[in-house]
Amino acid sequence: MSLKLPKLPSIRDLTRIYNLQAKQKFSQNFIMDKNITDKIVRLAGLELENALCVEVGPGPGLLTRSILDRGAKNVVAVEKDSRFTPALEQLQDVSAGRFRSIIGDMLTLDHATIIDEGLRLQSNANGEIKAFENVHLIGNLPFSVATPLLIQWLHQLATKQGIFSSPQVSMTLMFQREVGDRIVALPSESPRGRLSVVAQSICDSFKVYNVPSSSFVPRPKVDATMVQLRPLENPPLTSSLGTLEHLVRFVFMKRRKMLLRIFKDWHPDKVALLEECEIDPTLRPQDVSTEAFCELAQLIEQRGIKIP
Ligand code: SAM
Repeated sequence: MSLKLPKLPSIRDLTRIYNLQAKQKFSQNFIMDKNITDKIVRLAGLELENALCVEVGPGPGLLTRSILDRGAKNVVAVEKDSRFTPALEQLQDVSAGRFRSIIGDMLTLDHATIIDEGLRLQSNANGEIKAFENVHLIGNLPFSVATPLLIQWLHQLATKQGIFSSPQVSMTLMFQREVGDRIVALPSESPRGRLSVVAQSICDSFKVYNVPSSSFVPRPKVDATMVQLRPLENPPLTSSLGTLEHLVRFVFMKRRKMLLRIFKDWHPDKVALLEECEIDPTLRPQDVSTEAFCELAQLIEQRGIKIP
């Protein structure tokens, strides 16, 4: 059986028919060119057939079409703006039982709702209800909520909650280019910051595809990039993610200073923490490895030390 979708109206026509002008309050910038969404899904290199694929913010559904055309069998999309319901229902009708959409806010939605929809698709297809081994989270995210969503998902991943309780999880997500650069930046690279350390403490990450601002309608002020994050088998994080986040927030507030100065200003006693973790006190925050930050966070948590 072919898993290609039948011919559908173009996204441009759909947005005209249903009067779906982009709304700034939902950070809506649509991709209208299927070559781009096909390329994103292809370069993401995901095994979609037996996985639960969760798309965040499908809008009128072009990326969804590319995911379905690539053979995904269980696609559940979460969209906040109910104006897209007719377009998404139309896609549902031609998806041969492979797609469901939920109107809801991904920041607050209970993941059980997503998993239930995914299991329903699976059982309708082959009468089987088996927990998904693979979950792929994918989305052209609204720039305004992309970082809060990622931080929330990293916390859920660290504690294996909701869709992140599956054995294999990946996230393939669109960010504004500058944020994507930060997520993947290694020590001493100029975009290195809090987000680099927090993300790399539990995930491996790489850029899938840079998408120029001209690919979106309306055109945003900045370029975008698709980043893929996959959980590390042996992550360096041994404290709670909250402690690491707190530590890097504190340290990167003074990113131009040496660690020695930052820790001395905190309290002269605290310099000893750097020595215990064998961290060179002359380094600046952006030069410190993720492993070293994780070790420091663990020590701080073990000793019950309060970070300012
Ligand atoms: N996927 C479409 C595309 O590639 O053309 C639309 C991308 S647009 C940048 C972001 C989409 O996310 C919009 O449809 C918007 O309504 C939706 N959205 C915004 N905040 C959301 C949230 N908290 N939860 C779910 N969807 C959200």
